[in-house]
Amino acid sequence: MQLKNELNEKQYEAVTSRSRFLRIIAGAGSGKTRVLTYRIAYLISELGVEPFQILAITFTNKVAKEMKERTAKLLPDFNLNGLTISTFHSFCAMFLRREIEAMEYSRNFIIYDEEDQKRLVKMIAESFGHKKSDEIVDDALSFIGYYKAKGELPGDVNVVSLPEHKRKLFNFFVEYEKRKAEAKALDFDDLLIYTIKILENFPDVREKYASKFLHILIDEFQDTDNVQYKLLRLLCGRRTNVYVVGDPDQTIYTWRGANQDIILNIEDDFYPMETIILNENYRSTTPILNAANKLISHNKKRVPKDLYTKRESSNNIVLKIVEKPEDEGKFVAGEIRQLMFHNKDLKYSDFAVLYRSAYLSLKIENALTSQRIPYKVYGGTKFYSRKEIKDCLAYFRLLLNEDDDVSFERIINVPRRKIGETSVTIIKKEAGFAGLSMYKYVKNVHKYDSELKPNVINSLFALFEVLDETRAKLDQNLEAYSEVLDEFLNKIKYKDYLEEDDETKDKIENVRALIDDVRSYLKGNPESNFADYLQNVTLLSAQDEIENSDNVNLMTVHTAKGLEFKYVFVIGLNQGVFPNSRAVDDRREEGLEEERRLAYVAFTRAKDFLYVTLNRGYSFQAKENLTPSMFISEAGLQVARKPLESLYNSSNERLYRYNPYSELDAKRAEVQKNIVDLSKNNGIKWNVGDLCIHKVFGEGKVTEVVDEFIVVNFVSYGVKRLLGSHPTLSKKE
Ligand code: ATP
Ligand code: MG
Repeated sequence: MQLKNELNEKQYEAVTSRSRFLRIIAGAGSGKTRVLTYRIAYLISELGVEPFQILAITFTNKVAKEMKERTAKLLPDFNLNGLTISTFHSFCAMFLRREIEAMEYSRNFIIYDEEDQKRLVKMIAESFGHKKSDEIVDDALSFIGYYKAKGELPGDVNVVSLPEHKRKLFNFFVEYEKRKAEAKALDFDDLLIYTIKILENFPDVREKYASKFLHILIDEFQDTDNVQYKLLRLLCGRRTNVYVVGDPDQTIYTWRGANQDIILNIEDDFYPMETIILNENYRSTTPILNAANKLISHNKKRVPKDLYTKRESSNNIVLKIVEKPEDEGKFVAGEIRQLMFHNKDLKYSDFAVLYRSAYLSLKIENALTSQRIPYKVYGGTKFYSRKEIKDCLAYFRLLLNEDDDVSFERIINVPRRKIGETSVTIIKKEAGFAGLSMYKYVKNVHKYDSELKPNVINSLFALFEVLDETRAKLDQNLEAYSEVLDEFLNKIKYKDYLEEDDETKDKIENVRALIDDVRSYLKGNPESNFADYLQNVTLLSAQDEIENSDNVNLMTVHTAKGLEFKYVFVIGLNQGVFPNSRAVDDRREEGLEEERRLAYVAFTRAKDFLYVTLNRGYSFQAKENLTPSMFISEAGLQVARKPLESLYNSSNERLYRYNPYSELDAKRAEVQKNIVDLSKNNGIKWNVGDLCIHKVFGEGKVTEVVDEFIVVNFVSYGVKRLLGSHPTLSKKE
């Protein structure tokens, strides 16, 4: 490894440090993830650490995979078997597969995702005499989520202090845990909670891991929560080295429990700790970095950092203001088309469109579709969350575990077997009395006095037969798993069932892709089995879906964390949208600071070009036309009303390229004069028939007055609905 050529001085110091405890605090794009990867390689090649003694934690499975590949490239002559690079959740799942028997829990547990959790809580609600749709379902879910995010189980809750209505929710919590255990399932929070409980209660297990992992390294440490931190401490023994990297300005998950103080105060627990600060950004060009730095400097709760870049450049932030939300999409699509046309080296995957909330992707998707630009939405309806995929996964889970009631209920009438809600309710009730899972109860139904109709029993017995036969085949391990599964889906007529649907082609292809996925997973991980595959699928996060095909990338800013793209469009920079008004209302200043950090993450994903767009459309929520986000001016971006300079000399583009260091400054001052101060009110009282002048649309006639709005028929722009008090409007006398 030619470390000195590939790292700057500070990075080199960080990679080769001999400190037992080290923390890197550094801004976006300064090479934190790169340093962590080189550190792993350095430990193995230069310090003689065995790969199995290293545990590296990343925020997503995708980054874990990339880090593994990169390490292998850096160390072509080393065998890296046993090197653990994974997310906290995947690490815990792996740990529990080995150790959970200590808690008398089956090693063959399955993992419930959010949808499964909700299904289970609905089932409980019904058995408590509520309806599936009752509000109590959501209340119970958030009650359970609140305690579990803190690492607590029902036994940890101080029930006496709970008010009456919360006690009801507490009963849900108890029942939820009970049924989950009966189904041999764990939810996401359990993965951490159970790992921690085992490490706390079984000193021999703790000792085994504390002496195994001599080096623990954690990326994106700023988003660590208290439970994860507790786990880190439990994994540390007398000789463990701890290496954490993060950027407090990029803490964007406090709403989910992340605690920024952990990275700031970690030296209290790991003493003495060396702190290295990396100041050079390698990702973005000067104007992009300056705008991001300027924006984040408005946060009060932060450690100021002095981030710079040598990537001098000018004119590479574009601020675009359009009239309607759809126009943002049109602008993005048009720009991508033009740029691809002018630069043959660009690929679609060099572009990312980022937004604050998932619903904003729609207008971009429509515009990209009409321009025939291929794109992929990450974290939308994830592949593994599609109905047909979840159906198949439910079947696969049942193959491994008959007691999984949640999966059984999902597929009991899919494909249709003439088993209605009434029969399902009977099964649930009778199984409950018999103390058996639904599946086991029906299997043994002849031993009980059941109300179930014979045709229901018969059709379920037919299903059980296929399941048993398939299970036996899988156990024998004679044929490839994927073949057996494929045949299974044919036998239960699942594919026929999909044929009935309008969007059949996609769905059948998705199922085929799933079978291929099983095949390639088992091939790529020869030591793993089918249960590992299912676990892996459940643990995938939104970012993990990113494939290497050539598509424009659409995702929320949360999902974009840690990634980089040549061209980044951040859309919907309107007050109330970004910053999101709900986040700010709920958590005031703290919420606003997190929104600002989120915008900082968004801007710093851009390598070469950053586009920021917003619209002046009417917001039904705010009952007024949208205004620019406060982050625009905080980042030093100017809202311009006239074209200053246009990329392709198309004079009708209201495009403004901003470069704080160029001779454009003078022009900017000129433009600034035209900036509209929306807080000003024109004080005009409008009547139908009035003639008006709008700064952009020119002359028009008022045709309607509704509350504070007027409808104007403009000579050149047609009919528009406007806020009557808008400062751009004046009366034509
Ligand atoms: P983020 O805060 O967004 O997670 P980061 O600090 O982890 O960013 P990296 O992703 O590691 O930063 O690095 C940003 C980019 O800069 C990457 O493309 C990386 O390869 C490049 N880079 C970092 N350090 C160097 C260097 N010394 N020489 C060349 N390229 C570098
Ligand atoms: Mg990183």
